[in-house]
Amino acid sequence: MHIKTSQNCSPNFSTTGRNKKKIKYIVYHYTGMSSENKAIKRLTDVNSNVSCHFFIKKNGQIILMVPELFEAWHAGKSNWQKDISLNKNSIGIEISNTGHEFGYKEFLKPQISSLIKLSKYLIKKYNIKKKNILGHSDIAFERKKDPGEKFPWSYLASKKIGIWHKIEEKKLKKLRKKEISNIETFIFIKHLNKIGYFTKGLSNNKKLRLVKSFQRRFRQRLINGKIDRECLIIAEKLSKLS
Ligand SMILES: [Zn+2]
Repeated sequence: MHIKTSQNCSPNFSTTGRNKKKIKYIVYHYTGMSSENKAIKRLTDVNSNVSCHFFIKKNGQIILMVPELFEAWHAGKSNWQKDISLNKNSIGIEISNTGHEFGYKEFLKPQISSLIKLSKYLIKKYNIKKKNILGHSDIAFERKKDPGEKFPWSYLASKKIGIWHKIEEKKLKKLRKKEISNIETFIFIKHLNKIGYFTKGLSNNKKLRLVKSFQRRFRQRLINGKIDRECLIIAEKLSKLS
């Protein structure tokens, strides 16, 4: 399989290189800037200290910015499972979208189609597990919302990219906003830990951000930061997959 890309090299990467076997995760981002050109400029500007491996334009074009065997700087302070700072063992994909700060819009069809092709190519090449396909907000929920609740996680899962719960909407709807007990709150957090989220030392504010991050990924219809019975059942199902 071959992926068609153009090149716009970013100077922001670690020059030591890495072994193919180190690549364990794919991390999706939105650019979160007012224009696509600004985002490309920033990711290739030596003073920004940020970059990604692949950039997906609104028209679906894929730009290679950092070769896969070098560490790009996209994840920042991050955690997943037992891993800390995921730059070293991940591939970062930026998708052009203004994000929450500039009127969050739907991702475009050509983007998603390119994203699927690129992801499948990388999954095969590096043998990446379903549970290791992540959003930036999964691994850095204290700081990040991207790729956000409009990112088509369930559609990607139908193409075998990433995990999904597959519980029927009819069933979920009945459980939405239904309160849970204190003990169930603990159980919910335990499920999240099992899925991979970093759950140590949660203040109330951190917990709120964690729950919102979970919802942006797995319960996109309502992002309110409250753990209800729908969240609980989804988390339970997912924890068994991982
Ligand atoms: Zn990001």
